[in-house]
Amino acid sequence: MKLHTLALTYLIYFLLSVVYNLVITPAKGSLYVRFLDVGQGDAVLIKTPNSRFILVDGGPDFSVDYYLSEAFLFRKCRFDMVFLTHPHSDHYSGLQRLRKRCGIDFYHDNTSPNPSSHAKFMIDGVMIERLCPPNGYHSKDINDTSLVLLITYKNKRILLTGDAGGHILCRDDMLKKIGTVDIYKVSHHGSASGLCRLLIAKEAVISVGKNNPFGHPSFEVVNHLMESRTVIRRTDKEGTIEYKIL
Ligand SMILES: [Zn+2]
Repeated sequence: MKLHTLALTYLIYFLLSVVYNLVITPAKGSLYVRFLDVGQGDAVLIKTPNSRFILVDGGPDFSVDYYLSEAFLFRKCRFDMVFLTHPHSDHYSGLQRLRKRCGIDFYHDNTSPNPSSHAKFMIDGVMIERLCPPNGYHSKDINDTSLVLLITYKNKRILLTGDAGGHILCRDDMLKKIGTVDIYKVSHHGSASGLCRLLIAKEAVISVGKNNPFGHPSFEVVNHLMESRTVIRRTDKEGTIEYKIL
């Protein structure tokens, strides 16, 4: 390669790096939580204050790859933590591929041993608590074995529930642990099966596909959220939904 071509290549790379660091990469010190628009399914990409990445579920197909090419510009995808709430295809299929092609430092799913009845993982000042399922929990309905994760950063609380049933979320011990949350990823894409009327959230995110065959989200769930004056956000209407927590 001629010298001026090499210099030009370095210059372009440098300029792209500057754009990436100053414009695309948000300032350090904030937590970013992105509810990715993966159609009918779940995938939540979290960027910690020190630019480490956590993924909760991988969606039904290749949709997450598109978002990863933004997050990992010029480098191989690498996650510090990956969680799978339960092995249904709308959460799992995309993740199956990512487990092969990305680096993953820590992996945890609903069958992983729970080191305690209330396991906590800490990363960059972000606390992730596994509230469900307890060790050895079995159910005929795989949805009810979903990991339920409570993420706390500074004074903000985010609840991710996979597709857990309302009867799981509404248990006394669960409500006590959950308390009031700022952001609630509505269970089971807004299906009535995930409705817990006692769960209090300021904002609710429904991760759901347009014109899905299941009729999600259900009228019951949407109506309950409206009556309880919860702000409703939906990936089928807004696309990817991002929260920046300072
Ligand atoms: Zn699902």
